Amino acid sequence: MFRFPLRGIPGPPGNVGSHFSVLPPKFNTENWSLPGAGRCLSKGGSSRRPPPARVRVAVRLRPFMDEETKASEPSCVRGIDSCSLEVANWKKYQETLKYQFDAFYGEKSTQQDIYVGSVQPILRHLLEGQNASVLAYGPTGAGKTHTMLGSPEQPGVIPRALMDLLQLTREESAEGRPWDLSVTMSYLEIYQEKVLDLLDPASGDLVIREDCRGNILIPGLTQKPIASFSDFEQHFLPASRNRSVGATRLNQRSSRSHAVLLVKVDQRERLAPFRQREGKLYLIDLAGSEDNRRTGNQGIRLKESGAINSSLFVLGKVVDALSQGLPRIPYRDSKLTRLLQDSLGGSAHSIIIANIAPERRFYQDTISALNFTARSKEVINRPFTNESLQPHALAPVKPSQKELPGPSEAKKAKGPEQESTGSPASVTAPAPASEKLSLLGKLCSMDPATMESLLSLDRLLGSQGSHGTPLLNTPKRERMALIKTVEEKNLEIERLKMKQKELEAKVLAQEAQDPKDKENSPTVLQPLPSCTDTVAKPLRKAVVMPLQLVQKQAESKIHILKRGHKRKLEPSIASKPVEKAEDCWELQISPELLAHGRKKLLDLLNEGSVRDLRSLHLIGQKKAQLIMGWRELHGPFSKVEDLEQVEGISGKQVESFLKANLLGLAAGQNCDPS
Ligand code: ADP
Ligand code: MG
Repeated sequence: MFRFPLRGIPGPPGNVGSHFSVLPPKFNTENWSLPGAGRCLSKGGSSRRPPPARVRVAVRLRPFMDEETKASEPSCVRGIDSCSLEVANWKKYQETLKYQFDAFYGEKSTQQDIYVGSVQPILRHLLEGQNASVLAYGPTGAGKTHTMLGSPEQPGVIPRALMDLLQLTREESAEGRPWDLSVTMSYLEIYQEKVLDLLDPASGDLVIREDCRGNILIPGLTQKPIASFSDFEQHFLPASRNRSVGATRLNQRSSRSHAVLLVKVDQRERLAPFRQREGKLYLIDLAGSEDNRRTGNQGIRLKESGAINSSLFVLGKVVDALSQGLPRIPYRDSKLTRLLQDSLGGSAHSIIIANIAPERRFYQDTISALNFTARSKEVINRPFTNESLQPHALAPVKPSQKELPGPSEAKKAKGPEQESTGSPASVTAPAPASEKLSLLGKLCSMDPATMESLLSLDRLLGSQGSHGTPLLNTPKRERMALIKTVEEKNLEIERLKMKQKELEAKVLAQEAQDPKDKENSPTVLQPLPSCTDTVAKPLRKAVVMPLQLVQKQAESKIHILKRGHKRKLEPSIASKPVEKAEDCWELQISPELLAHGRKKLLDLLNEGSVRDLRSLHLIGQKKAQLIMGWRELHGPFSKVEDLEQVEGISGKQVESFLKANLLGLAAGQNCDPS
């Protein structure tokens, strides 16, 4: 693997190459947002809806790869101007298909053109605590990796963005500046719906979660602090090498996987009000889009299920849903879209770079990539500043159980920097409330800048509805009142927790009571004559529940077998005990009910959405998508057992699936977990 040849080139401080200059002083990002775009408080901090910013789209046409093809066939694509292009229409030779985007980069465009024109403008938002993402889209061989990574001679977006970002953060966190900035990187790959940590390949498939504030997290994902470009190279290059080794071994793996570089810029204010901001930058080299190229009136047609790249398939659906303003956006249907929830229709400044090729053999892929990109243009994001107060600036409140902090969040919770003497290096534990009082007591000796910061805190508290007890120029009595309010809030939280515990205990008590009720109900299994002197045990839930339901609806149709001996249910002797009832009994449903259940199941398999399918027992996200894929390819299932033909579902699994679902459906039970 190469090293990026960026270091050592004469230029501005920090080893920044001359052509990788930091943002020009007059650099203006205003035109990247719709009118009115600007900073606002993070979710929960403001009731104001953040202003919109459309997803930007750029198209890059790569040159012919060999002179021979160039001489023998004309290019399928022709640039019109810096924003538009036309593609030959092979259905009607006289016509061309015209497209307009935010930018079009022709075959002569350089890496610098793309970077400066489309990527550099969004970097500054990271320093405002906003998110940004760059996605390279297009068929395999059209230049995605070239655009994102590049080569030693022509470094791409990733090395250039990292260079600039590190330079910017160095400048912003210089001594005397109000904020202290740090940068971390993570690098992952989504391959066959598995999230793999490229900085720690042994860690296996990782889960994607959303915290209570709507932030997407990957608990356990490695985050490496990077202070310089060589730090970045040190982590990134071996990880990329790991990936390319995998590519040869696993047959085109790299064109089927999405490589995601996540760079986080963390900012902590050095003086009161001690705000903190976090901006995330995703730099993504997507899998080759030729996997889902065949679109038609019936929707996306898929190749055989083994080759489905579910993430890319769902990405198209997410973009469609967003551009059509549909109420439900299927982010959760794939790992990639879940991860990109912020970037598409979310809170990020996003740019999609569609890479296309001029050769005739790419024609279909070119059209479908351009169509996808054109639809993406309609997607509106609402970026906001992800800003909060550093934990020690607030009264210590334990994080709620719902929050599953990722490493960075854990780091923040462990030991945020505390500004007590003006030194940014002093790191201490969060201040308890009593210390806060003494901190507030020092107000009178603070400099004007600090006073100004405190005034903004004051306004912040006011805007958050805390009735803004003024911090400055207030008598001690009022400051005490502020602290008292915080303490009261803590007590309130404790009270709520106790209440929750009480409710949980009630539910448990209720559950413990339930089996008793069942014993007295006429639907409980009857004892065998030989078992009359033993004590009854409650049936396993999975067996009892459907029986009770079915019994109520179709009592006469249910029979109980004891080890092969058929016996009609006798409600009149319900109170007698049974020994080991869960082992002794099994259910048999009448043929009509069974047929009814089968029909319902078949209808669901043929008409249900991914969500409907997931509501069935033993069907998870992956299986639901496989079923949908099979259905689109082969048409409806003629019987439930046809499920066995879906790749990844065995005969045994079909059997278990039938057992788990038939009874519930026959009884008209809704399988939806919600
Ligand atoms: P993808 O990642 O989309 O599969 P690559 O980036 O690997 O495609 O590009 C395929 C080949 O084309 C590589 O050899 C790459 O160096 C070359 N290439 C792509 N784009 C350009 C370009 N703009 N200029 C010169 N060569 C390019
Ligand atoms: Mg590639």
